[in-house]
Amino acid sequence: MNQPPVYYFDNNATTRIAPEVLEAMLPFLRDQWGNPSSLYGFGRQLAKPLELAREKVAALINAEPREIILTSGGTESINSALQSAIETRPQKRHLITTAVEHPATLKSHARLKSLGFDVTILPVDADGQLDVRSLERSIRPDTALVSAMTANNETGVLFPIEEIAAICRSKDVLFHTDAVQTPGKLKIDVKESGVDFLSLSAHKLYAPKGVGLLYVKRGVKFQPCIIGGGQEQGRRGGTENVAGIVGFGRAAELATTYLNEANTRIRTLRDKLENGILKAIKGVAVNGSRDLRLPNTSNLSFEGIEAEGILLLLDEQGICASSGSACTSGSLDPSHVLLAMGCDTARARGSLRFSLGVYNTEAEVDFVLKQLPPIVAKLRTQR
Ligand code: PLP
Repeated sequence: MNQPPVYYFDNNATTRIAPEVLEAMLPFLRDQWGNPSSLYGFGRQLAKPLELAREKVAALINAEPREIILTSGGTESINSALQSAIETRPQKRHLITTAVEHPATLKSHARLKSLGFDVTILPVDADGQLDVRSLERSIRPDTALVSAMTANNETGVLFPIEEIAAICRSKDVLFHTDAVQTPGKLKIDVKESGVDFLSLSAHKLYAPKGVGLLYVKRGVKFQPCIIGGGQEQGRRGGTENVAGIVGFGRAAELATTYLNEANTRIRTLRDKLENGILKAIKGVAVNGSRDLRLPNTSNLSFEGIEAEGILLLLDEQGICASSGSACTSGSLDPSHVLLAMGCDTARARGSLRFSLGVYNTEAEVDFVLKQLPPIVAKLRTQR
């Protein structure tokens, strides 16, 4: 099939599988397709590659292999952390999170609220930042868990995870961080940050969809969310996605290369794109702190027009970007992240996210810089 060129600027949504990752996975799809729990050698032989992959993903975050639970992705990991916290601390009925979390976190809290838990949702300021002192004040004797993301998927804004972890530790409250957007962009060190739970997803790191991990700090009690066979030492039932896990392991090995790229070449490309747009088009504003954010993300508001129109015209040119808006019943709802930052509905509806990755080139950035100004001008004249 001949595919027209794709200019992919949506790496916070998902990433392409790296050729090295695919290479590592193929034998486990083609030849070694047994079940690792089997008693016979053909299945049993898979235990070793699984454990090797676990060691590699553990090394990515400076954890011990036994602190890793392999899951189906970020959403499952987040749900599992929450579930475990409330089950292991049954007398504590209060949870704290932030207004800008991914729906996996926000909707799980909403469900727990409907089940009678007390939930505090902390606001953020215009830069997307959290007031850590207000978080500290919100902690009560009956708080079971605080959940705050390491980096925001829409704006790239970073939260001070180490500081939050220290506060939680001093008050004997569990702390979970959704770090799905950070591997390969920021160094993650669970020993330094002191978090109790951390969620990751392979498909944001040039590995396949449907794989992820939950880090559970040694000594923190864990109750499984997915119950079934005794896989993952009884902590997560379900036959292992061997090929996906091996791919995740290979991607974790490559993450140092990605990290260097992200903080040099990708950051430069992102800045070129962002500054180029700000220079070429009037009425554009950056959403979120420009300093405390991921090196690959740029979230921009275009005055007077809706992101949906821009996205459709960009798509005609093969450019993939996104808006933070959720598509519900055919219309775009304004992003909850931008609304929480105090943007009005019009500004939130006029926002686009460009998120770059290791496969973006300068020529692609130049292509966007050429295509976008006439698209915005055209939409503005149609108002
Ligand atoms: N958390 C964040 C910040 C994300 O960006 C995503 C994916 O978009 C998720 C959680 C969910 O991860 P997954 O798609 O692996 O379930």
